[in-house]
Amino acid sequence: MKKHNFSAGPCILPQEVFKEASEAILDYNNSGLSIIEISHRSKDFVDIMEEARSLALELLGLEGKGYKALFLQGGASTQFLMTAYNLLQNKAGYIDTGSWSAKAIKEAKLFGEVVEVASSKNENYNYIPKGYAVPEDLDYIHCTSNNTIFGTQIHEFPTTNVPLVCDMSSDIFSRQLDFSKFSLIYAGAQKNMGPAGTTLVVIKEDVLGKVKRQIPSMLDYQVHIGKASMFNTPPVFAVYTSMLTLRWLKSKGGIAAIEELNEKKAKLIYSEIDVNPLFNGFAAKEDRSMMNATFTLANEDLKETFDAMWKEAGINGVNGHRSVGGYRASMYNAMTIESVAALVDIMGDLERKA
Ligand SMILES: *Cc1c(COP(=O)(O)O)cnc(C)c1O
Repeated sequence: MKKHNFSAGPCILPQEVFKEASEAILDYNNSGLSIIEISHRSKDFVDIMEEARSLALELLGLEGKGYKALFLQGGASTQFLMTAYNLLQNKAGYIDTGSWSAKAIKEAKLFGEVVEVASSKNENYNYIPKGYAVPEDLDYIHCTSNNTIFGTQIHEFPTTNVPLVCDMSSDIFSRQLDFSKFSLIYAGAQKNMGPAGTTLVVIKEDVLGKVKRQIPSMLDYQVHIGKASMFNTPPVFAVYTSMLTLRWLKSKGGIAAIEELNEKKAKLIYSEIDVNPLFNGFAAKEDRSMMNATFTLANEDLKETFDAMWKEAGINGVNGHRSVGGYRASMYNAMTIESVAALVDIMGDLERKA
């Protein structure tokens, strides 16, 4: 039986996508060839790459606005250094809202001066800092839109003329934003778009070409743009499956429609966390993430009982990250409201039982 998969990443994808992707492994489009054995220079694959790139821009509302979409390798973790390599000439600002932000800061320091404009580290990252001023002399300011581990999400982005760079790994395509406010967006596929192995990078071209250092080809956005995201062999299966997920999202009504569903799912679980005396929410209420709900048991003695109950109900992947403890329910785009209801039922059952 298919489980209710709340895994934080790699994570759930639409069942239709799993099916179509698995069929393409055996025989792509009745070609007599597998998707993973054809040349990445074949028309079939070039078409897939181009569809993936244009669907990404279309869904984000960025077509015809000077942006390019790339499907690169090395995960979001490579983007921590690639953004700085390509954009950091003198000084960059970072908003430190969790472990992933901290890792991005560490890499950027290899390339220039880094100012931590705001941080919530003092409270184990359980909130999003607000009311800070963004210095005007920065090459860019970097933020993490959704903090996968801590379950917080930025609801208001800094207003500034400084180019905005954002790690959207765990909430890309999940909610409507004015994406044209961002100069560079990156996201590892495995949280909301596809299997691990590719990273979407969306860049406004006018931020490039400003640093004086030489950049190795594989780490140079301009090289990848010049080669239409095919400078070297792309991760063909990850790109294909991401493209299928983007097609699926478009057919469901795009980001506007999925956001409505994501809001319903988040409301369902957070209401349970708030009314059920056995659970405490981890993140500050106003900063709660629609994607990753983090919560702990009020009484740790109930852990064994609760864990047995959710496992019995076919639920997977709700253990919290070690730096927060407790539980984390990741509810990415492909998760149905029925799966969230299954978890909420178990939380209610625990209260009735205890
Ligand atoms: C998972 C995650 C990363 C790391 O992604 P990799 O693809 O494993 O390098 C970076 N940032 C955020 C916000 C994440 O959730």
